[in-house]
Amino acid sequence: MRKYRVGVIGATGMVGQRFVSLIDKHPWFTLTTVAASSRSAGKPYAQAVAGRWMMPDPIPGSTKGLTVLSAESDVAGIVSSSDFVFSAVDMPKDRIKALEETYAKAECPVISNNGAHRLTPDVPMVIPEINPEHLGIIHSQRKRLGTRRGFVTVKSNCSVQSYVPAFHPLKDRFGLDRALVCTYQAISGAGKTFETLPEMIDNVIPYIGGEEEKSEQEPLKLWGKIIDDRIVLADSPSITTQCVRVPVTDGHLAAVFMSFKNKPDIDEIKYIWREFKGRPQELMLPSAPKQFLHYFEQEDRPQTKLDRLHESGMAISIGRLRPDTQYDYKFISISHNTLRGAAGGAVLLAELLCAEGYIQID
Ligand code: NAP
Repeated sequence: MRKYRVGVIGATGMVGQRFVSLIDKHPWFTLTTVAASSRSAGKPYAQAVAGRWMMPDPIPGSTKGLTVLSAESDVAGIVSSSDFVFSAVDMPKDRIKALEETYAKAECPVISNNGAHRLTPDVPMVIPEINPEHLGIIHSQRKRLGTRRGFVTVKSNCSVQSYVPAFHPLKDRFGLDRALVCTYQAISGAGKTFETLPEMIDNVIPYIGGEEEKSEQEPLKLWGKIIDDRIVLADSPSITTQCVRVPVTDGHLAAVFMSFKNKPDIDEIKYIWREFKGRPQELMLPSAPKQFLHYFEQEDRPQTKLDRLHESGMAISIGRLRPDTQYDYKFISISHNTLRGAAGGAVLLAELLCAEGYIQID
């Protein structure tokens, strides 16, 4: 079978560049189309990202000469050269919503990294190991949009991916009741580096707009149920968060406290984390980490710099599970925000959509 032809809209930004790097090495996907704002449109990709290429690998040779199209004005051209698109545009929310539905209505599936559609009731927000069954709502969304092939699907916010995976296999089994989470988030989460955000050097900023609301609400959609034509949010656990920006390049760390209705013991939790496998592991998808949840026994791990790239940045690293005086337990966990938390998570979702037949090609 031929490779899937892939477009990236928002290809010049921090997350878009990650998509470009990941697709270059991908066994199923080939990058055919790059698009961004009118500021970049018409330029060869290498020129459009000159002076702001932030990936560790050089710009892929096959992408350098691609002409950047306008994500808003060249929809027909982008759709005709892509079997599906990844969306990583940074625009006002209502324009992103409209733009992504425009692609879907043009019969082009959209896998979005953006927040705009995360709480739309018939748009699945999926972490492939956690709620792959939510893809079933695509059928209802296609009915609403009047499409045969097109739809929008999204991945969750990057902060959520550092702690929800650790909760997931414990939640129903022991009745996860309440949790308190403080996240320590990298500057690449704001699309920045130390050069473009120098105020982060030697500093911590105790505010990330909208992040705490997303961190508390989105888990309830991930654990929601499809009822009729919508995903109905779960009504527990109750989660409270504080999210701060810290001076690290990549990697979101979470300090987590949790209590259960039926308290498990520590060894049981570690065993369940070690044994947990999701649909991507069963299907052996190309970007799936072999071991999704890694537990470190060393008392000073996981560390952002040492552990964010575990299994190519697609695994979740956990450590320091211990009893707490106010909650049952506390622990630390880390995920890579632009890999598992953004482009890598979206690529894994695309693989799942292809493997499960939601995106088909001739
Ligand atoms: P970024 O570096 O600022 O890149 C933004 C991209 O959007 C660029 O390609 C830009 O094109 C394009 N763009 C801006 N205005 C546009 C317009 N009017 N029409 C078409 N394209 C337009 O942002 P980012 O960090 O990659 O984030 C992208 C999105 O992902 C954001 O919504 C962000 O909230 C979300 N996100 C980011 C992360 C992360 O870790 N960074 C994680 C999860 C989600 P030009 O280069 O031409 O301006």
